[in-house]
Formats: sequence, structure tokens, C-alpha cells
Amino acid sequence: MQKAMQPLDSRLMKAYARQPVSFVRGRGARLWDEHGTEYLDAIAGVAVTSLGHAHPEIAAVIAEQAGLLLHTSNVFRIDWQERLGQRLCALAGMETAFFCNSGAEANEAALKLARLHGHRRQVARPQILVMDNGFHGRTLATLSATGNPAKQRGFEPLMPGFVRVPYDDIAAVHHAAAQHGDIVAVLIEPVQGEGGIRLASPDYLRQLRSLCDRHGWLLMLDEIQTGLGRTGAWFGHQHAGIAPDVMTLAKALGNGIPIGACLARGPAADLISPGQHGSTFGGNPLACRVGCTVLDIMESEDIPGRARQLGRRLLNGLQQALHGHPDVLAVRGQGLMVGIELNRNCQDLVGRALAQQRLLITVTRESTIRLLPPLICDERQIDDIVTRLACLLESASAAQAGAPAAGQLAAA
Ligand SMILES: *Cc1c(COP(=O)(O)O)cnc(C)c1O
Repeated sequence: MQKAMQPLDSRLMKAYARQPVSFVRGRGARLWDEHGTEYLDAIAGVAVTSLGHAHPEIAAVIAEQAGLLLHTSNVFRIDWQERLGQRLCALAGMETAFFCNSGAEANEAALKLARLHGHRRQVARPQILVMDNGFHGRTLATLSATGNPAKQRGFEPLMPGFVRVPYDDIAAVHHAAAQHGDIVAVLIEPVQGEGGIRLASPDYLRQLRSLCDRHGWLLMLDEIQTGLGRTGAWFGHQHAGIAPDVMTLAKALGNGIPIGACLARGPAADLISPGQHGSTFGGNPLACRVGCTVLDIMESEDIPGRARQLGRRLLNGLQQALHGHPDVLAVRGQGLMVGIELNRNCQDLVGRALAQQRLLITVTRESTIRLLPPLICDERQIDDIVTRLACLLESASAAQAGAPAAGQLAAA
């Protein structure tokens, strides 16, 4: 007989600081824990379940495809993969697609395309321009591209071949171009998600596009978080009226079924030849059929348009409700990708929001509340997010004011 019950997660590597809540069921923007308590989801599994939990049409497609065929291998033609490639290329104005299982893998494909592009141009040691505070994943190459020393610490030596510049600063890109003759591509998020919901100005993105044209660099957009309606357009770069040479997608593409995609155009479209890259699971019939269904639903319900409207409502609501709040430095966002930057470390708010408000939020870069609600929310739910957040921030700052010594200690 065991002396004491071990915590259920004791055999899991401590990769996550987890909240003590476990959900068993969801519907749309609502979730229920094992005790039947209802929660409102304002993060959508970090921009994944954009069409909400347990979407009936997606659930039916998953069940049907599971009864037909899950996997054969990329040795053979895969009809659903070809269809999804067609759909995505048509939607995004791209020419070719490679499918994988996650965002990091999609970016790995992009980074490999950049290297091939460099070598095709006889650049012996091709470099890729990346951004301060950028986030591109946790594999060694994508971690090396990521601009967050805290996430990189302990994993040195990082992969070489990156030149880093400040985000949204075209002068820095000009300077890097003058200094490094071996740059062959730029990898950038149109809105930095993990980086604290930071928007690149449309003008900057347009200038970056023309610099890439002038130097023969590939413009590679990481739209893993911003893509598929999240910012109120199909893709974040459309707000700037530019087109990338390479674009990566993942998160919302499977609404919870793992899938990633790397799309390419022009000089990047035909860089890969058989044997140079691959993935066992990538592009399997299940994931690709779900991807097609996600696009069907997003198209027929104009989900990007809905995200634009709801995003305006959320941003306005928050700006009004939090106006003059002493802890709030800024409320910013695009579509349903919204950040509330506080003047302090606010990681405690994730647990408080769950316990006090039954609301799922995330905090990024320690001091920015990040909201990524499902794009199928209704207006009432958006207003509800605003109300619960306003209550949360009010009670949290009251608690801070009541314990100034502890607050100062934590900050010291
Ligand atoms: C989430 C994310 C990634 C990594 O995706 P994974 O599926 O976790 O590997 C890469 N880039 C951006 C912008 C992301 O938001």
C-alpha cells in the first residue's frame, strides 16, 4: 500500500508552472472544470481554439475521418493535404505549402528555406535578420531566432546565423544591411504576441518589404499567432497591404488538432527538392481535413470580419473601463489580440482571474495581460471579459495597496 498519494503530475517534467485547475469539457468560449464550475475562456488555448471548444462540425469531421483513415505517410499522395495546400495558397496569395505539426516546425521549414535561398545565391554563411522580443518557438533553431534571453538561458550554444535588430525600427534594418552583406532573409511577426502584443507600424512593414526586394532577401512572416482571422484580417500583414515570400501558420489552423504550415511564393516557392525536408506526421489526412473544415467555417461565417468588430468592442471597452487606472500603462491590440500593460509584474493575475473571476487570461513578458478570446465569442461575452477584468484589476490593486510592504519586497 502506498503511504501517501503522490500528486498526479509528479512524473511530468517541470516545463510549466501550472494553475491548479483542470478542465473536462468546453463549448464555444465556455469551459467547465471537474467540479462543474463554469469559466469564460479569454485565451483560446493561446490562440488555438479560435472557433471555440467542441465545435460540432469539427467534432463530426474528426470522428468521420478517424473511421476512414488517419495516416498513410508522405510517400503517397494525400488528397486532403493537396486540398488544404490549394485552399491556403489561394487564400494567402502564396504558391506552395509544406505541412508539419506545430508552429516551431513551420518556422524550422522557413529557416531552412532561407538557408537554401542563401546558398542558391552563393552566400556561404547566410544570415537571417530577426527581432528583439520576437518569439518563434522552442526548438534549438527557433529558440535561437527568438529574441528573449530568459528563454534561451541554459541552452547555449545557440544556433549561429542570426542578426538581431530592434522591432519596428527601419533604421536598424538599414544599418544591419550595411554591416552584414550575407543577410538573405528576415523573419518577423506582424504583431509580436509573446513579446507583449506589440504592433509593427504598417509603414515599417512596407519599408521592410521594399528593402527585402532591393536586397533579394526573403520576407518571412511568422503568422502563427496573428494568422487566420486573429487580428481582424485573414493575415496580419494585410493591414499593411504587403505580401510575404514565406509565411508560417499553425495555432488556429487545426482548432486544437496539431498542424503547422509553411507557405512560400516567388523565389521561395521551389527551393525544396525531394529528400531535403520532411515530417512523418505532417500533413496527415485527419489534420488536413480539419484544416479545410476550419477554413470552411471561417469563410462562411466571415470570422476575420467578426474578429475585427469584436476586437474594436473589446479594445474600446477595456480602454473605457480601465481609463485612469493607476496600474495600467497601456491598452493596445489589433482584432482579438489585445494586451494590457501594467506598471508591475502581474503574473499573479492569472491565478486570481481563475479563482475570483472564473476567467482564463495569460500574462506575457511579466507585466502584460494578454487576451486572445475565441473569434466566435458573442458581444455579451466580450463585455463580460471587460467587466471581469475591470473587477480583477480593482481587487488586485486594492490587495496591493493593503500590503505595500509585500509588494515592495516582491518588486525588490
Ligand atoms: C506559438 C508560436 C510559435 C510556436 O508554436 P508551437 O506550436 O508552440 O511550436 C511560433 N511563433 C509564434 C509567433 C507563436 O505565437
